[in-house]
Amino acid sequence: MNVEALRKEIRNIKLYTIRYFQFIAIPLSYMRIAATDDIPTAGVDERGTFAINPDWWAKLMDEQKRAVCIHEALHVVLLHPLRAKGFNRQIYNIAADGKVNWALNGSEINVERLFPDAVTLKKIAKVVNIPVESLEKMSAEEIASRLEDVAKELPLGGGCGDLIEGEVEGEVVQEGEGGAAEKRGKDLEKAWKEIAASALTYAKIAGKLPAGLERVVNEVLEVKPPWHVALRFGLRNHSKHDASFAYPSRRGDEYPGYYGYRYRVWCLIDCSGSISEDELRIFSGIVKHEARNADIYAIPWDAEAYEVLSAKNPAEVASKVAPKMRGGGGTVIAPVLQKALGLMEPGDAVIVLTDGEITDEVNSETKGLFARAAAKAGFAMVGYTHKPVYAPGFALSYIDFRRRRDG
Ligand SMILES: [Zn+2]
Repeated sequence: MNVEALRKEIRNIKLYTIRYFQFIAIPLSYMRIAATDDIPTAGVDERGTFAINPDWWAKLMDEQKRAVCIHEALHVVLLHPLRAKGFNRQIYNIAADGKVNWALNGSEINVERLFPDAVTLKKIAKVVNIPVESLEKMSAEEIASRLEDVAKELPLGGGCGDLIEGEVEGEVVQEGEGGAAEKRGKDLEKAWKEIAASALTYAKIAGKLPAGLERVVNEVLEVKPPWHVALRFGLRNHSKHDASFAYPSRRGDEYPGYYGYRYRVWCLIDCSGSISEDELRIFSGIVKHEARNADIYAIPWDAEAYEVLSAKNPAEVASKVAPKMRGGGGTVIAPVLQKALGLMEPGDAVIVLTDGEITDEVNSETKGLFARAAAKAGFAMVGYTHKPVYAPGFALSYIDFRRRRDG
């Protein structure tokens, strides 16, 4: 195998990225690159080494080679090799490919033209029956979870994944600057987040950055805090939030709040037929947590809004609210929004807990109610377990009830 030729090609691709795809220039220099026959095509391993099968590579056109480098570098920057742990690797790979290829929309790289078999969010949308606009807002983990749900019924097409399990050995094409490839675990994660942050800055100064790409990178750089942190942060600020609400990523949970200030939180809890026992348990856990610092006004709802249940502490949530969180039937959110809007005081917090399967979500009346509730509230947020909700003015947060780590 002629590694010198490969080395030269990689150098040319780096020059190409400096000119046309600035975001990738830095990551591509920091990646270790190895040539090996151990894998059939190309991929990245768990320490972020970019491995290339030289025979496969030799058959590609220049344009395809550039696309491969950019695609693989994005996997590393987005920490996909590390994030895949705990998932069926093949399924996580499909979700991650969908996200990476979506992020390339609007760039110089047209993945579908170069690789007709490439995974796209459009293809995933058909399989999981969730519209592309919703998938765009979901993380690779959320999409993988949805794919895992359907994979039980219909087998997903094979295809060789490019998120390689373990560590690949091979002839070194490039050592990679900064020694990131020598790091493991949390150190590796930290190193790549720093590389991603500098890549973002560089791309913004030096050239253009596709909007989708900026979004997926920010997903990695901004750690979404647990529910209560976001809630308290929002109330403390007492400011209005729009769809671009920024999560308080650099604040810890221990950040102090005002002494003796108790606020009011309206919890609109979806109790419709599609909500599982596990989801209800998580919902009541969130409400209980909020009750430590706030007066809770909970309204269970399905196709209608039920009576308001008030609780002044976690114990009251357990005794008064949780037992009444039983519904069934359809999921229509307009009545409960209407009810809360009529009862809440300006500046109160409102949080909607749902799986996201809401029938009237797209109605203009419902959108108007969301917007009015958000405008009146000091803080408004939708927490969903399944599908993102289009709720104007509300911050959106995914509740991972299967792999939930925070308490
Ligand atoms: Zn891939």
